[in-house]
Parts: sequence; structure tokens; C-alpha cells
Amino acid sequence: MSVTSNLQDIRATLPEGVTLVAVSKFHPVEAIAEAYEAGQRIFGESRVQELVAKHQSLPADIEWHMIGHLQTNKVRAIAPFISLIHSVDSSRLLECINREAERCGRVIDCLLEVHVASEQTKSGWAVDELREYVASGAIGELKSIRIRGVMGMATFTEDVAVVRSDFERLAAIKREIEPMFDSSFDILSMGMSDDYPIAIQCGSTMVRVGSRIFGHRT
Ligand SMILES: *Cc1c(COP(=O)(O)O)cnc(C)c1O
Repeated sequence: MSVTSNLQDIRATLPEGVTLVAVSKFHPVEAIAEAYEAGQRIFGESRVQELVAKHQSLPADIEWHMIGHLQTNKVRAIAPFISLIHSVDSSRLLECINREAERCGRVIDCLLEVHVASEQTKSGWAVDELREYVASGAIGELKSIRIRGVMGMATFTEDVAVVRSDFERLAAIKREIEPMFDSSFDILSMGMSDDYPIAIQCGSTMVRVGSRIFGHRT
């Protein structure tokens, strides 16, 4: 199967209002160029160095999304061009993004990554800590970031009931904290190659699909 036909197949199943992020991490620029030719404009990457290199060698109208764990000392490299950072998991990182955005005269869109999976290893805010942070009002002081919604990953399991329950919890957290933000808080980023149809049933507005478009990563 080609990247183009994979993209067409996925698009045919996405309801209106669900945005597709093509996760191109570990895949070469040629594969991204093929997806671009097929009309895809939003790409997700998980490592800063790779993201910067691909941004430099591909068309300027691509919207780059950072989806992987982000260290504060790497924010400066992506601040001038990044469209959306999905993986904001601490107040320290958010403050750093705010500073770097201000430095470039930009407002950077961010999602709050929430830990809903059972695995200890998955990153993101613990729900209680996120509630506390949002309630503190500290985010309102950060004028160069805009919180657009939440992002999360379900437990890695074949058990569809567990995956569904993780997504439902994430959707509920988004609804709960939504009143603390303005109307631009409208993104629920959840769902990957193996679970995006379930995520959509649970209200996802943005799916992050990699291997189902580009094949397996080496
Ligand atoms: C790699 C990755 C994806 C895409 O995973 P696939 O299973 O290849 O679709 C989505 N979200 C995040 C955060 C990722 O790191």
C-alpha cells in the first residue's frame, strides 16, 4: 500500500471536524513529500532535531506538531515555527514555551498532556495535579501561549474496554476544565493507528496516525 492510498483510506473514515495529524517520525522526507503531494499539510514529530531538519527541507506551508516529550532546553529550536505542541506536561515547560514564544514575537498553541493510561511510563499530568494547576490561574499570566485543549494516550492493550475507558476519562477531563479557558480551547487530541476509531467514538477532534499511513518504523 502506498502513502497516498493509505491517506485516502483513513480520510474516508474520518468524520467532519476530526483533524488528521500524519505522524512522520523516523520516516524520511520522501515519504512526507508523498503525503504532502496527496494533500496532507499537518505532520507530527516526536524529536526536536528531526523536526527541525524536516522543517528546513520541506515546504513552508506544512504545519508541524510536536507530539513527543519535550525538554525545556530544546524549546528554543522549534519556537519560531511550531504550530502546536501536544505534549506539555509541566508548568515549567509551559513557562519556558511562553518565554521562547515571546522572544520570537509569537503566541504558541499548546495542549495539556494528561496521563490516563495504566502504564507508569506514559508521560503527562496526573489528573489531580492538572486540576490544581488550572485552578491556580497561573496559566492566565502566560500571554504568549494559548491552551487549545488536551492530549492523551490510552493504555497499550488489546482490551478495547480499557482503551475506551481511558479515552472517556480524557474527554471528561477536557469537559471539566474547559470553562477555565476561552472558546479556542477546542482540541481533544487522542487516537493513534490502532485505536483512533475508538477515540473518535469518544469525541476525539484530532487523531495522530503514523504507521497506518507510513508503514512500520524501523
Ligand atoms: C508515535 C506516536 C503516534 C503515532 O503512532 P502510530 O501507532 O504509529 O499511529 C501518536 N502519538 C504519539 C504521542 C506518538 O508518539
